[in-house]
Amino acid sequence: MYSIEWQKRGLLHAHILIWMMEKITPNRIDEIISAEIPDIEIDKDLHDIVSKNMIHGPCDSLNNNSLCMSDGKCTKRYPRDLLAETITGKDGYPLYRRRSTEDGGKSITLKVLNNTIDVDNR
Ligand SMILES: [Zn+2]
Repeated sequence: MYSIEWQKRGLLHAHILIWMMEKITPNRIDEIISAEIPDIEIDKDLHDIVSKNMIHGPCDSLNNNSLCMSDGKCTKRYPRDLLAETITGKDGYPLYRRRSTEDGGKSITLKVLNNTIDVDNR
């Protein structure tokens, strides 16, 4: 089952619900889903799309006036914790791998609100 939507910047995206015959394990989730900044050396097009359209914020301490902020916290729960491996959270939902730059994760530099900021997988 799926629903196709357009984000505010015009990027087409889909919400997809897939029923699987067998339960998927956290180590197999990374074969299908990534919450990380793609490696520009491996897939420049995907890296550029994610960098342009899929980075949340800035919010929290970088921009307390962001629309996602409420009571001093990001309502979308960013920045997320860095994680070396995808795990299943207490609620049954996956907590996706978000590697640090020391652990092979990628980072990018963005110019936002007249500031240059380094963005990593958080
Ligand atoms: Zn936020």
